[in-house]
Amino acid sequence: MELNSVKEMTVNANVDVDVLVVGAGPTGLALGADLARRGVDALVVERADALFPGSRGKGIQPRTMEVFDDLGVLDAIRAAGGDYPVGMIWQDGERMGEHQMFDPAEPTDHSPYNAPWMVPQWRTQEILFARLEELGGKVAFGREVVAVTQDGDGKGNRDGNGDEDRDGNGVTVEFASGAPVRARYVVAADGGRSAVRRALGIGMTGETVDPDSMLVADVRISGLDRDNWHVFPPREDTGGFLAICPLAGTEDFQVVAQFPEGTDVDLSLDGIRGTVAARSHLSPEAVTEVRWASDFRPRAALADRFRAGRVFLAGDAAHIHSPAGGQGLNTSVQDAYNLGWKLGAVLRGEAPESLLDTYEEERLPVAADMLGLSTRVHRGEARRGGATRQLGLGYRDSSLAVETRTDLPDGSLRAGDRAPDGTVEGVRLFDAFRGPHWTLVTVGADAEAPVLPGVRTVRIGSYERYGTGVFLVRPDGYVGWAGTGTRDLPEYASRAGLTVG
Ligand SMILES: Cc1cc2nc3c(=O)[nH]c(=O)nc-3n(C[C@H](O)[C@H](O)[C@H](O)COP(=O)(O)OP(=O)(O)OC[C@H]3O[C@@H](n4cnc5c(N)ncnc54)[C@H](O)[C@@H]3O)c2cc1C
Repeated sequence: MELNSVKEMTVNANVDVDVLVVGAGPTGLALGADLARRGVDALVVERADALFPGSRGKGIQPRTMEVFDDLGVLDAIRAAGGDYPVGMIWQDGERMGEHQMFDPAEPTDHSPYNAPWMVPQWRTQEILFARLEELGGKVAFGREVVAVTQDGDGKGNRDGNGDEDRDGNGVTVEFASGAPVRARYVVAADGGRSAVRRALGIGMTGETVDPDSMLVADVRISGLDRDNWHVFPPREDTGGFLAICPLAGTEDFQVVAQFPEGTDVDLSLDGIRGTVAARSHLSPEAVTEVRWASDFRPRAALADRFRAGRVFLAGDAAHIHSPAGGQGLNTSVQDAYNLGWKLGAVLRGEAPESLLDTYEEERLPVAADMLGLSTRVHRGEARRGGATRQLGLGYRDSSLAVETRTDLPDGSLRAGDRAPDGTVEGVRLFDAFRGPHWTLVTVGADAEAPVLPGVRTVRIGSYERYGTGVFLVRPDGYVGWAGTGTRDLPEYASRAGLTVG
């Protein structure tokens, strides 16, 4: 369905907007951009008057780089950031030796972005915001959501025909000031303290990862080189570690410091000067400016549900965790990426509303595993290695993953797996996948390729990484269905919002 038809549907259905996204953090902005490129009528509302100014989620994992490639922001992200510097351990003003923060990983043909890339979160948000606007999306700042009410049965459009919207099902969102907005669907991307999650009464189950308080701040510092991530281990008299990381693409450093449980962390310039001087060889005056500062206590918690009727939870609204391991922003952006195409397909009437149930089915287990991983990295029980790069994540157990081949050898690419990149016979697969469409990859001369209108097709003779078969790659880059011919494909296609010719 074309953009015009989507707009027309909105006018008929007594809603102001098809999708209201609450929160313009990385989750809301990524979702807003994805919905905009699908022609979905969406609005992002943000409590603050401007984008978040801090560096906190600064590590972009390889899987998120692939998502950013698809969303059309990869070049900007690469230009804005840099590689992580090697850690340097200091003691009494002396360099004691290097510390590798990450297990080394080289790019390969099938995983072109294989190491974390550093971009301060504020810069990532600026880039996503610019892309969202370029695609015609909108963010309304200064709009704080205070109440969310679902009418009708709240179950949504089960048959995909849109009728019940005309009967009154929808969500009414109220703000601290200004007129309410009525939407067909709402996505809570309003962070760890999510007002929407609370309004829905969805609980969070979790634990304190570390009772200590943490300071995180963006500062200007003189007298420290930008070639290392400077680490000052705790001493008996300091009460906790200090780490000072040069922020790629800026003149800032990110300071992280740990304090004993119950400390009232001083976020002022004088307070941060005192912390830096007490724990390093630097003088207080070496800290010349504090550009942003915050404190937190690492917790790990998972929302009991990611969906209530027509409202979805995404990003930190659905899962909060220790920043160790750099998973939060990444998992959040990937939530948005999982949900965007599903909302688009249901709103266009191409897929049944039940497709939206697969959002929680797929993302809740990923988030649960990620919470465990971040907690283990925080406690020093796991390294920042293959798992933190997120390239192995997939949805093999999802009802949307249908593997029709049998007797596959171990290590074979299967339905549910991330569809790897590769340049084969002059075709780069990520070039073929880029955009909001599905892609049918046929590998092997004997494989029978079904006809799927609107689906991009790639036919290659052989590619070891894929094996032989027909691979239907979802808009979010995972193999949805795999087979040797068209068996079972019609049923799959109708569930997923595709037409089989
Ligand atoms: C100190 C710290 C360090 C971190 N370091 C890392 C890291 O190294 N790597 C990593 O991947 N992640 C890291 N994270 C996590 C990362 O910052 C988050 O996972 C990420 O910001 C989540 O994005 P989000 O869009 O879901 O939520 P947020 O970024 O919290 O954005 C939510 C947005 O919603 C808005 N909002 C809130 N309430 C309302 C309301 N009622 N109405 C309207 N708008 C509202 C907020 O103003 C905000 O703009 C860190 C987090 C912290 C706190």
